Amino acid sequence: MAKKSEAAAANAVVEEVVERPVEEAKERESKKKKITSVEQLPGVGESTLAKLKDAGYDTLETIAYSMPSELEEVAGLGEGTAVKIINAARDALEMGYETGDIVLERRIQIGKVSTGSKELDALIGGGVETQAITEAFGKFGSGKTQLGFQMCVNAQLPREQGGLGGEVLFVDSENTFRPERIAQMAQAKGLDPDEVLKKIHIARSYNSDHQMLLIDRADEVVKKHNIGLVIVDSLTSAFRSDYVGRATLADRQQKLNKHLHALQRLADMYNLAVYVTNQVMDRPDILFGDPTTPIGGNVLAHQSTYRLYLRRSKEDRRIAKLVDSPNLPDGECVFRVTPAGLADVE
Ligand code: ADP
Ligand code: MG
Repeated sequence: MAKKSEAAAANAVVEEVVERPVEEAKERESKKKKITSVEQLPGVGESTLAKLKDAGYDTLETIAYSMPSELEEVAGLGEGTAVKIINAARDALEMGYETGDIVLERRIQIGKVSTGSKELDALIGGGVETQAITEAFGKFGSGKTQLGFQMCVNAQLPREQGGLGGEVLFVDSENTFRPERIAQMAQAKGLDPDEVLKKIHIARSYNSDHQMLLIDRADEVVKKHNIGLVIVDSLTSAFRSDYVGRATLADRQQKLNKHLHALQRLADMYNLAVYVTNQVMDRPDILFGDPTTPIGGNVLAHQSTYRLYLRRSKEDRRIAKLVDSPNLPDGECVFRVTPAGLADVE
């Protein structure tokens, strides 16, 4: 018994002696040469690399944005190693402090997509912003998808006409993408529906993992097609059905958190707008006030920059309420969903 552990200890020493100079050399190397991929990170050997890639951590960004506990779990790393790998990825991406003028410089680049309603645009500070996540939550039929469709058209317009002059990426998890409806909206604006539809890149997602993968792998299509707007409709429904019951809630929230980080990264890196939709669930425990509450909990509340609560009103009217904005007052407005698209009440 004692022999065995002695042998193991000796082995560990040998391994350390052999591995340490390799590690140190890698670290020295990394300081000289800029790290541009996961395999160049100190602490990432072949088997760790394979495990990280399998779990979708295949870019410096996904690693830089992750928590040590995530890497510990997916790659069987010790906490120290996980921290080291994450920090190296953050260094490589220069994710340290920056000065206020640089942040301002980046904010000057922010574009805004018009929703089609001046009232709604005003409520959210001029339109749906790039470099941010805008979430609409509400019951079935409240207009979440219609708003997404309208932005598919509007995002393609030049900046001076309330667009971003970019194309659109649409992740459809509920099979509610309707090109005919978008064509109708495009036509109403005097645009060629075929041209508009050619600039919308749709992926149907089949479960929450697939949905995450589509976003994790979006960089290529984003760059190739000059994507200005990313839509995930619905963001939460697959997570809701894939993780049922209390026991899996923590798991679900962790995955959703990672997914939102990936979306925010796209928004920041490519100066694009992200629009996501979310359902509400009935809260029978709330007796007074509004008994519905958005799903996704705190994770979503913290990570979406703008949250809109949509409700049906009479006829084609919808009420939008802005909640928890970092820089705008909470408020409400009314808009309409017409055959021509979103519009103001005359
Ligand atoms: P959800 O919030 O569930 O995504 P939608 O955005 O799909 O809801 O809203 C559906 C509603 O939009 C319909 O009930 C209808 O009121 C309106 N709508 C859909 N298509 C049209 C159209 N072509 N013309 C006018 N209103 C429409
Ligand atoms: Mg919908």
